[in-house]
Amino acid sequence: MRKINLSDFQIATSETARDINRRIILNLIRSRQPISRAELARFSGLQRSTISAITEQLITEQWITEGALGQTPRGRKPRFLHLNNDRAGIIGVDVRPRLTTLALTDLNARIITQDSLPTTSNPQQFLNELAERIKNMRSSQPQIFCEGVGVGLPGRVESKSRRLIFAPNLGWSEVDIKKGRDLDIKGPLEEAVGLPVEVDNAANACALFEAWFGKFSEGNQDLIALTVSEGIGTGIIFNDQLIAGPTGMAGEFGHVSLVEDGPQCHCGNRGCWEVYASNTAAINFYRQNSEGRSGSASQEEAAPTIDALLRLCDLGEAKAGEAIDRMAHYLGVGVAMLITSFAPNLIVVVGEITRAWARVEPIIRQVVNEKCPQPSTTRLTPLDELAHPRLRGAISLVLQKHFVAPSFA
Ligand SMILES: [Zn+2]
Repeated sequence: MRKINLSDFQIATSETARDINRRIILNLIRSRQPISRAELARFSGLQRSTISAITEQLITEQWITEGALGQTPRGRKPRFLHLNNDRAGIIGVDVRPRLTTLALTDLNARIITQDSLPTTSNPQQFLNELAERIKNMRSSQPQIFCEGVGVGLPGRVESKSRRLIFAPNLGWSEVDIKKGRDLDIKGPLEEAVGLPVEVDNAANACALFEAWFGKFSEGNQDLIALTVSEGIGTGIIFNDQLIAGPTGMAGEFGHVSLVEDGPQCHCGNRGCWEVYASNTAAINFYRQNSEGRSGSASQEEAAPTIDALLRLCDLGEAKAGEAIDRMAHYLGVGVAMLITSFAPNLIVVVGEITRAWARVEPIIRQVVNEKCPQPSTTRLTPLDELAHPRLRGAISLVLQKHFVAPSFA
């Protein structure tokens, strides 16, 4: 179970004591289910009457349910409580520059049904289409009571307003941090689908996924999720707290400039880390390598997707291998920067590149060993794509609102 930091309770001005107790109870049920009310009182230190009131409310709202009778030596047999996985669900949305994926899951983030749609260049049109898909998903599973929608975005969300302020890879002219243009995604979606919506950066969502469901983060208070996709994102959990900074812009390592006069980045800067180490970078390296070759190259070889490039690499195509190796080298440069900056216990890597981990890991490690003063204390590990870390990370955005005490919210 994640540590609950009592010292931060007084700064949670919008939270009532009852809200906080409710989260503590819900998290105890999640982590220790099945559990009786008496055990809840013992583990939480709360009064039995408080436990009764909160659990009744949670049952009414369908978050939890009463199961089998427990065994006691004497007296009334207690009823065990557990999460209402058959009834309660959450919708997660993973927005990427070309394709958006959404899924309905249970409270343990197990996927019940999944859908996808193109991410179009007009955000208004996109949000309308997304809302329709969410409504269709809900009506296809009428037995599931939906608790909310979590949206992971390839960009940064302002800490207080929750508006999208920075998303250079989406290409939406409505979002331009240098011109002070931002976009409300949460408000219109909430209105359209009639559910609470949580929005955050996709890498932050992946960091929460690892904290909630991951195999590697047990006992770790510090971890970084590194998302390698069309761009590069980092989600940083430090001392058990997600780092957002006062504006929500903290952690934009993908846009740290490695080479001052390097290639142009979508953010307007030059030579950013993601220009050298993202999927887009690998595709560009491959194109540059292939230029001037005879006209016999297939279209896939001339302008491949990252999937095709990784396939070619796997088949032993030399230029594809060179492009992936070059991307891996620059991933190492940035990972060395992260380790030198934060010295975290754990860095988890999310993205298509993890399919070629046996090839890229030694390259990343070599660069890290060369560049870091103390490289060996940080564990670097890929997350399985089949675990859907981005999508289930979006689910975690909703879970943390309900289950976690304010220090982590
Ligand atoms: Zn940039």
